[in-house]
Amino acid sequence: MQPIVFINNISIEEQQNWLAQFKLLLPNEVILLPEQINQAQAEKVQIAIAANPDAKVIARFPNLVWVQSLWAGVEALVAAVKQLQAENMLPSLQLVRLVDPQLAQTMAEAVLTWTLYLHRQIPEYIAQQRQKKWLQLDQPKAQDTRVSVLGSGELGVNAMQVLAHHGYRVSGWSRTAKNIPQVTHYQGSSALPEMLAQTDILICLLPLTEQTTGLINRALLQHLPKGAKLINFGRGGIVNHQDLIECLDEEQIGHAVLDVFEQEPLSASSPLWEHQKISVLPHISAMTNLATASKVAADNISAYRTSGNIPVSVDLKRGY
Ligand code: NAP
Repeated sequence: MQPIVFINNISIEEQQNWLAQFKLLLPNEVILLPEQINQAQAEKVQIAIAANPDAKVIARFPNLVWVQSLWAGVEALVAAVKQLQAENMLPSLQLVRLVDPQLAQTMAEAVLTWTLYLHRQIPEYIAQQRQKKWLQLDQPKAQDTRVSVLGSGELGVNAMQVLAHHGYRVSGWSRTAKNIPQVTHYQGSSALPEMLAQTDILICLLPLTEQTTGLINRALLQHLPKGAKLINFGRGGIVNHQDLIECLDEEQIGHAVLDVFEQEPLSASSPLWEHQKISVLPHISAMTNLATASKVAADNISAYRTSGNIPVSVDLKRGY
């Protein structure tokens, strides 16, 4: 059996933790770092496990059959593979992103937490405290609060169900039609304005693709009722931050919770840090869990070794 290569750009400590975990879960596999594999061996490697891989390193393994990502968001990996294929440095290969029920649960917790934060007007009460202002604001009921989720995928659907369970009026939006209990679902670009017009809190759980880059811009935000709030847990590049700041300053948008940014860590000079109506989070809404994610990846690898089946993979053209 050929070794599996672990192509990563994470800290040495994280790298060692993943390797130790894979050793326990896949005792019959040899998992090596790229630098431990010579070129003759590299040409025989069929499986890679990837965490922030560098395109140049992937190119050293020209006969990869599939790559298991340890992250759910794979836009960087998709871009690297597309670039290598355009340069004829890599044959067609399958990219498998992380689909982990634990990640979906963690994301649903974050969605509920920050929806409650906005719905229960915590930013407003924090601002009032700073001014020593004792003022009880009107509190809309959850049943009267319309929460819409962009992206009805592995993470979005779970989040919608948790929101509906907590009494919110939930809508969802994706490219294709879905039937999700207790959720009003919209599909495709033409249906988006109708959903936005009936949204108090908009949550983004979309992948970053050519179609979604800059999707949340001034034009989209203008479709929301005045004072609506935004949570972005997808990717930074989906939001046009300059447009968002303008919409916040014009009170078109009431508050934004941002967990993801084009440049991470967010630069100290970014105006997002100090904006009164923005809550900045350091990409923590749903972090990959080492124990559960390694089990998902190991099960995928074991299934491939016994059946030759590769799990559902990313559509490189679509970008997710
Ligand atoms: P997924 O299962 O692939 O779901 C993506 C959803 O987005 C699908 O419903 C898809 O529609 C929809 N979509 C994609 N492009 C669209 C478009 N142009 N118009 C309308 N809908 C579109 O992905 P997931 O596992 O739910 O993850 C979503 C994203 O969350 C990841 O890509 C990643 O960027 C982000 N994420 C963030 C964190 C964090 O900590 N902040 C953690 C994990 C993941 P269809 O169903 O119709 O195909």
